[in-house]
Amino acid sequence: MNCTKSTCGRFIETSTGEWEVVIGLEVHAQIISGSKLFSSSSTKFGTSPNENVSFIDAALPGVLPVINSVCIDQAIKTGLGLNGSINLISYFDRKNYFYADLPSGYQITQFYHPIISGGYVDIETEYVEEKTINIDHIHIEQDAGKSIHDQSPTKSFIDLNRAGIALMEIVTKPDMRSAEEASIFLRKLRSILRYLKTCDGNMDEGSLRADVNVSVHRPGTEYGTRAEVKNVNSIKFLTAAVNFEVERQINLLESGKEVEQETRLFDSSTGKTKSMRSKEDATDYRYFPEPDLPPLILEQSRIDAIRETIPELPDAKAARFQRDYNLQHYDACLISSEKEVADFFECALMSVGPDKDIAKILSNWIVGELFALFNKHDTSIVNSQISPQHMGELMLLIKTEVISGKIAKDVLEFMWETQKSPSIIVQEKGWQQITCSDTLTESLREVLVEHADKVEEYKNGKDKLFGFFIGQAMKKTKGKANPQILNEILGRLLSE
Ligand code: ADP
Ligand code: MG
Repeated sequence: MNCTKSTCGRFIETSTGEWEVVIGLEVHAQIISGSKLFSSSSTKFGTSPNENVSFIDAALPGVLPVINSVCIDQAIKTGLGLNGSINLISYFDRKNYFYADLPSGYQITQFYHPIISGGYVDIETEYVEEKTINIDHIHIEQDAGKSIHDQSPTKSFIDLNRAGIALMEIVTKPDMRSAEEASIFLRKLRSILRYLKTCDGNMDEGSLRADVNVSVHRPGTEYGTRAEVKNVNSIKFLTAAVNFEVERQINLLESGKEVEQETRLFDSSTGKTKSMRSKEDATDYRYFPEPDLPPLILEQSRIDAIRETIPELPDAKAARFQRDYNLQHYDACLISSEKEVADFFECALMSVGPDKDIAKILSNWIVGELFALFNKHDTSIVNSQISPQHMGELMLLIKTEVISGKIAKDVLEFMWETQKSPSIIVQEKGWQQITCSDTLTESLREVLVEHADKVEEYKNGKDKLFGFFIGQAMKKTKGKANPQILNEILGRLLSE
């Protein structure tokens, strides 16, 4: 295939014409809850194998599941946060299949009547200003255990810690048209789930993973046959898997072959997908209503009470930051995408009064310098060594020109190291900006005397020496001179 456009654009163009890509995601999101969906075992990540396993999780005969109401509340909250409608009656079903890490031989899920129908997430991309990705439904199900095949040459091991943990499966409509849209959607979904505190979104721990359905077709014709890539557990892999599938499918179709509807696996070491099995039908699983559980019946009052607990979500927050603090749309979205960052921003701003100038400097400093510090120390906002109050104070020092932006970067480093307030650091180091025009005039006069020859050249038309004189004066003042005042005075001195 000979691509002239990346999959980010609307269509992909090859020598045979244009192709349109269609993507739908089935996102598995682990519900935040202390215990599992049908048992009281802990859901703690990283404990020793089979530490969190009860009779229910091991499917011993005669045990019965009891629904964990926290998990249901979390699913309702998620549904509300994603604009879905909560079904007052939903049911559980048995999905039958055999696998060593599924001791019961079936998974309890919701197939025919899920708890949430509909919903949507709005995204923005480089190509489309606003686009709605619709959600088909969200259902609740239990996770399976884990098979470990790489610890012994002759044995496989089973860890049932994960068995029975509650998942939400968030199924989108086939509304995405590129890898870019799919990854932006997944990022946005993760951000909302984290705001709601219903899923921690940690893809590297498997708390959020996506089955990625991809197909291609000629624009204006029916959707193509899709392949489903299972268990993609990072945004980077999502992009790679989609791009690989698109190229593979276009190549097949352009050479007169067909795309088979099948389940594929993404191999992160090669960046390729490979066939796992032909797509199974619902009938293969012999779904039937779960006989051990009654219908899940919800009171409207319960839903209303949960609605009250929904926090301000990223879009609303970004809009408010634009409205109240004059932030640019892009900055507002960046600051709002993580709740902890948004809280830090607002707390820092409030500590010095909601000043619009400071809001602008602050948002730049957070996404620029502060994030760079997090990177440098391989950490994140939750482990920030700089408090919002100190950050606010630093912004005030910049705005009131007590220190220059350049010096402020050094101050920020010291704030991280010492946890001292910026004013104290500036005082201790003697880093206050020099704005006194007498002092600056004196430094400049010295420079001009020391470089009398250059002054001559300047007067004969070598304009760019202006910067040289400024640089020399900066050196004399150890970088503390206020550059604006320095410029003004030099201009005056040179025209004398
Ligand atoms: P099934 O129940 O057989 O898995 P669904 O209709 O529930 O099929 O769709 C599963 C996922 O596949 C959904 O996320 C949906 O958006 C997506 N999907 C459906 N048709 C296509 C297609 N032609 N191309 C890409 N994705 C698709
Ligand atoms: Mg499916």
